[in-house]
Amino acid sequence: MASKLKIFHKNYIISKRLVRTVHELYPRYIPMTILRHIAGRLSAFIGIYVSTMILSELAIHSPVKPLIIKSIILLFTACILRLINTFLEKKAEVMREFSYEMMDCKNAEKMMNLDYQDIEGDYLRRLRERIDTDNWWGSGIYGAFITMDYIIYQCINVIISAAMSVTVISTLFYQESLLSAVFLISLTMLIIFNTSLQFYYNKKCFVLQDKISSERDNIEDTDLLNEFVDYRCFSDTDIKEAKLYNAEELIYKYLDYGKKFHTYTINRLAKEEGKYYMTGDVFRIISKCLCYLFITIMATISGNAVAIGMVIRYVICIDEMTGSFMALLRDIQSFLKTAKRHDSTFEYLDMRSSMYHGKLPVEKRSDNEYEIEFRNVSFKYPGNNEYSIRNLSLKLHIGEKMAIVGKNGSGKTTMIKLLCRLYDPQEGEILLNGINIRKFDYKEYMQLFSIVFQDFSLFDFSIAENVAISDNYDKERIEECLNLTGFSGHEIDVPCGKKYDENGILLSGGEKQKIAIARALYKDSAFILLDEPTAALDPVAEYEVYSAFNEIAKNKTAVYISHRLSSCRFCKDIIVFDKGKIVQRGNHDTLIKDENSLYYKLWTAQAKYYSTK
Ligand code: ADP
Repeated sequence: MASKLKIFHKNYIISKRLVRTVHELYPRYIPMTILRHIAGRLSAFIGIYVSTMILSELAIHSPVKPLIIKSIILLFTACILRLINTFLEKKAEVMREFSYEMMDCKNAEKMMNLDYQDIEGDYLRRLRERIDTDNWWGSGIYGAFITMDYIIYQCINVIISAAMSVTVISTLFYQESLLSAVFLISLTMLIIFNTSLQFYYNKKCFVLQDKISSERDNIEDTDLLNEFVDYRCFSDTDIKEAKLYNAEELIYKYLDYGKKFHTYTINRLAKEEGKYYMTGDVFRIISKCLCYLFITIMATISGNAVAIGMVIRYVICIDEMTGSFMALLRDIQSFLKTAKRHDSTFEYLDMRSSMYHGKLPVEKRSDNEYEIEFRNVSFKYPGNNEYSIRNLSLKLHIGEKMAIVGKNGSGKTTMIKLLCRLYDPQEGEILLNGINIRKFDYKEYMQLFSIVFQDFSLFDFSIAENVAISDNYDKERIEECLNLTGFSGHEIDVPCGKKYDENGILLSGGEKQKIAIARALYKDSAFILLDEPTAALDPVAEYEVYSAFNEIAKNKTAVYISHRLSSCRFCKDIIVFDKGKIVQRGNHDTLIKDENSLYYKLWTAQAKYYSTK
């Protein structure tokens, strides 16, 4: 019992936050929804009132003219209210769509502000999977907006129908108090019984949903299932691979599996929900019959006292009230229950940066007198038992060019990731002009570096925007940087890719690399780091790009990384990495002299594949 109360309390807290979130996303949504439903329900009840009033008045032969005038005024008011309702309904749709987009922006903004080590980590990956599944069941923030809309509708319907019922009941009570009391008690009992039964069925539906959702989570290859079931498999690269390797059969297997799973899920839920709705209807019909019976008895006993219009109005009001009351309970219950599905989203939005971010400003130096030092740095990736960098000590001297070579997996990229604080080392420290880089303001610190990784990415913006990473750019400088990399043949204001613009261009791998390198040049930072962005080029082309870059880099501190030794042989300072450690340092001529060295072995092994001198 205590644990159930705890769960209820937790769901209540999340629900409150959900309401707050809806309000924050669109502050006018809740008041406007209240207004919309008041207008809508009043308009409907005025309609009922007018028709039942006409029936009653005609039955007792009242004068027609005042009746017509009263009816016209009331119907005109109902009409205006209906128009207000329709207008606000359209506005609500826009507000919901807008808020949905805003929520996406909020999520994306959060992602931008998280540390890279968290983004790459397992915890966030699993959390995002959970968010996807939870959104699937609770329909995300859009679902919350809709459920709140239902709740407000039901509340207003209960209040207005109850108010109208009370006016009729009081008249009847005045005439036949005993019979009225018997009727009211039976009706109340019926409502309580029906509500409890529906509460029970509703709960069963939620338990079943939870069960199915955890079954889905426990399925092996959940990631794969999510990918294919959500029809996210239709990227052009996936399709290309599918065609090359006849992967259709495998994909269809997963699609079929997904389809079967969904059909099974929906069938099971439909069965439970069917029971729930059917019992609701049965009891609603019984309540209605009870009303008719009561009113008929009253009418018989009191002769003309209970007019025919009153009978209809009363039955409609009681029916609306009982129906809405039950729906209200169901919606509140479902809001509380589905609220827990937003817990994963809130958990994500509450995530805090796991790295320390200092506030120290970075000294602006036009002479680029910055020096980086790795002092006894060791690092292993979260969840890895092996060190990727071991006790690394190294200085990047101002204005010097350095090459880092070594086999794949020797720790070259990891070193750069540590340098630009995508990760923090577990041991040792990295210093900028003698101060631990953790102490600097991260954005200012990153201004010092222009980095191009092997897995760089271009955005679907124009070439110029991709180079400048801004829409406010210096056209001449962009063209200059692109020329330096040898990029030519395209206007700089055309979009990269055709995804969002059919006038966009599809760039070759080499052209993309040139844009990425031009981006690094345009940034004009003190340090330039190239981590094999040219890996897709042949060794000779890579060599040419690297040595040309050396000319361009001028007085900047530059680091070139490659697993191909030939690409870096122009560099006077070559560092050889192996298993996260520096094993050799020097220029090509000195390194190659030692025939027992790793450099010599790698050089001779690679020389077999291409001729270099
Ligand atoms: P290189 O750049 O020399 O090819 P890396 O620095 O990429 O090597 O990798 C060094 C080691 O760290 C490798 O053993 C690699 O498997 C491991 N590693 C790289 N990235 C990750 C990661 N995100 N998570 C866990 N291990 C990683």
